[in-house]
Amino acid sequence: MAAQSLQIPTSASKVLNHRRNFSSATPVTYLSVGVPSRRSKTLTLRAVLSEKSSPTAPPIATGIGCFTKSPDGYLYCDDVRVQEVIEAVDRSPFYLYSKAQITRNFEAYRESLQGLRSIIGYAIKANNNLKILEHLRELGSGAVLVSGNELRLAIRAGFDPTRCIFNGNGKLLEDLVLAAKEGVFVNIDSEFDLENIVAAARLTGKVVRVLLRINPDVDPQVHPYVATGNKNSKFGIQNEKLQWFLDAIRSYQPDIKLVGAHCHLGSTITKVDIFRDAAILMVDYIDQIRSQGFELEYLNIGGGLGIDYYHAGAVLPSPMDLINTVRELVHSRDLNLIIEPGRSIIANTCCFVNRVTGVKSNGTKNFIVVDGSMAELIRPSLYGAYQHIELVSPPPLMLKFLPSMLLVLCVSLRTS
Ligand SMILES: *Cc1c(COP(=O)(O)O)cnc(C)c1O
Repeated sequence: MAAQSLQIPTSASKVLNHRRNFSSATPVTYLSVGVPSRRSKTLTLRAVLSEKSSPTAPPIATGIGCFTKSPDGYLYCDDVRVQEVIEAVDRSPFYLYSKAQITRNFEAYRESLQGLRSIIGYAIKANNNLKILEHLRELGSGAVLVSGNELRLAIRAGFDPTRCIFNGNGKLLEDLVLAAKEGVFVNIDSEFDLENIVAAARLTGKVVRVLLRINPDVDPQVHPYVATGNKNSKFGIQNEKLQWFLDAIRSYQPDIKLVGAHCHLGSTITKVDIFRDAAILMVDYIDQIRSQGFELEYLNIGGGLGIDYYHAGAVLPSPMDLINTVRELVHSRDLNLIIEPGRSIIANTCCFVNRVTGVKSNGTKNFIVVDGSMAELIRPSLYGAYQHIELVSPPPLMLKFLPSMLLVLCVSLRTS
């Protein structure tokens, strides 16, 4: 990731700062702009705003999160005109992030967890930009990993390994060895996964702290591609085999130590009752497991909180709503709560800025061709996801001369 010197042709009140560590004494808007470059590196643009207010009219809040449309038709990211960023960046398309919004999203989780012993593990697969990972780590986040490379990335970003959780049904022995050395939590997903975890513990001479991934079989009421906590899921142990797993784990002590139970229901969940239903079942499992002498300390309820994709002002549950539905349960069993938010930390902080290449017609339908593609934004073509599109600048009078810029509000989710 290369820091790049970029000129923002803008008012005197905006100062570019190319230093690696800029002081945050003045309000800072951080713009990390990921541009696919020839050497597939990412350019980083940092813009620092002075305390003087911008001469452009302050945006009226008609958007979500950090993105707002002002009455003059310009789109803002916090108080920076996206158009100005476009002019400063010599490539297209690019991703634009609001550091302030990432902070706000994380703080909303932290606030909701006041009074509980907890770990917030950011699910790296939601967006693995190193600068974003470093920022979340600085805020106190842990990390949720679903591959060996994500584990390596988390280590590189400096996450505290004891606040990291290694998930997945295909964890490789070499990756588990690294996880064991680093001391991250590891989820047991299957019989063979358990064997590999034990092998990694023995190879490294470390005690691996493990959680059992259980499928509470609660319907998350989401697209089937992003439902992961039901009985037919490819993730987690077969619940009927719980006793087999407990006996096996006991026989492998002290190489591994069972410390908790995990579930992840799916993504884009918009009803917090679903989390509560799952937590009730999970606490039942924890009671059962504890009754056999295991000292479970952690309940991990996964991630999956939805966001307002439609920008229609829908009132969606907040992190506080989510935690409130499970708070008493967690207290009643004296548990540490682990949560694994991905999308709800990053989605509304990011846009994918495209340029219109041209307009064409097949006789019955007009197409606006942009320079972004499913390589950068896979969700619509993967599972027909709705993607909100906004113009960055006011449209010219005639449709024929379409505005040169289109903005696509973007979540760069790779898998689910
Ligand atoms: C994807 C994933 C998450 C995060 O899901 P979001 O919908 O992005 O919050 C959390 N935990 C696990 C195990 C995951 O695979």
